[in-house]
Amino acid sequence: MFKKLLVANRGTIAIRIIRACRELGIRTIAIYSTADKDALHVRMADEAVCIGPPAAEDSYLNIPAIVSTVLTYGADAVHPGYGFLSENGDFAEACKRSGVTFVGPRARHIRLMGDKPRARRIMKRAGVPVLPGSEGTGVTELKNAQEDAKRLGFPVLIKAAAGGGGKGMRVVRDDQELARLFPLAQAESDAAFGSRTMYLEKYLERARHVEFQILADNNRNAIHLGERDCSIQRRHQKVLEEAPCPVMTKRLRERMGKAAVRAAQVVGYSNVGTVEFLLAPDGQFYFIEMNTRIQVEHGVTEMVTATDLVRESIRIAAGEPLGLKQKQVEIAGAAIEMRVYAEDPDTHLPSPGVVTNHHSPGGLGVRVETALYDGYRVPVHYDPLIAKLIVHADDRGLAIARAKAALREYLIDGIKTNIPLHLRILDEADFVRGEFATDFLKRYEGAPAAAAAPMRGVANG
Ligand code: ADP
Repeated sequence: MFKKLLVANRGTIAIRIIRACRELGIRTIAIYSTADKDALHVRMADEAVCIGPPAAEDSYLNIPAIVSTVLTYGADAVHPGYGFLSENGDFAEACKRSGVTFVGPRARHIRLMGDKPRARRIMKRAGVPVLPGSEGTGVTELKNAQEDAKRLGFPVLIKAAAGGGGKGMRVVRDDQELARLFPLAQAESDAAFGSRTMYLEKYLERARHVEFQILADNNRNAIHLGERDCSIQRRHQKVLEEAPCPVMTKRLRERMGKAAVRAAQVVGYSNVGTVEFLLAPDGQFYFIEMNTRIQVEHGVTEMVTATDLVRESIRIAAGEPLGLKQKQVEIAGAAIEMRVYAEDPDTHLPSPGVVTNHHSPGGLGVRVETALYDGYRVPVHYDPLIAKLIVHADDRGLAIARAKAALREYLIDGIKTNIPLHLRILDEADFVRGEFATDFLKRYEGAPAAAAAPMRGVANG
């Protein structure tokens, strides 16, 4: 096992990794930008090294600075968490070249899955269903996009070949929209990923986002740990996730799980990963992408399978075999994760500032992953995710009740959060019935916000 691990991240995931390391007896090194000198992950790690100024390019994305810290401080492993450098093949390679273990898949798998048209081609060849879309390496010219749209039939979704975080994505319903939005999506992709290569995919109406958690060791053993339903999204970004998917059946889980494991095995993937699918109302499912890292929402899978995924990622990277076999995986109860963002619940604009008073909910089946404390200043420079509230109960009805009780107990003064939005989601009849698709929030955002009125005990600005 490793002796010293550098955590190349910040916030909730950095703390999550430090905790896993403590249990494994591994010393930790935190890195931080000058904006994060008072951050909790800096206080919790055994050692902490300032890596640069606030801008992510100069700190958490600065590969030479991080690699030289690894070497100077003698770490034998690096955990990238999610976001930042977690899906950067160059970083994984730089770690390897420096003789340090990158806790994640090989650089070539990160690059492969990061090239979405290529990943689609490989999946299609392996018999994993994909949606009709652009063939080959993608499109860079409007006229090719128009030809593809004609062949696919509207509506279609424009996507960035190097995409992530919903950037460069646009739904288009006719030729005019395509002509107008293709250059915009392309510019957005260029700004975010430095790539003008796009691809088109048939847009699936009323689909659910259902993803499978994969665990694979270095000896090509791969299993899945069931699914997560992440259909509650805003602008193609997840807001609330749950496990299991409310409409999942044993047979469908077997079929989708098998396809997900095949997706990982066909490329010889190792470590944790997530195979994302869209599940159509008719029960057909389609591969959309594979994320080659731990996900924000990994906690719901941990709760229903009683598996520590971060621990597993570290063990696998250290060359150890999988801790369990497919038939040992059991899904028990229901878990829901609510992403708590420092944002105005009405405008969705970030709401950074000082947390003047903080109380986390607790009790049976309530788990809070947060980097907040009294007096902590939420910086303006990074993702506004400040906490993840995860509840687990024997069944979905009880999990919803537990989630609402926990949200009402949550106290975060000084900044605004999206807690009222979560309360509203959990009260919606369609959500309670489990009848929803990725358009859920869009459909409700126009509706009157009666249920979002502040509740007694919720003090979130
Ligand atoms: P990113 O990597 O930018 O997050 P994804 O390909 O994972 O992009 O898609 C993000 C979300 O967009 C999905 O969860 C889903 O809600 C929606 N989406 C993606 N592809 C399609 C599609 N072909 N039809 C309908 N919705 C889609």
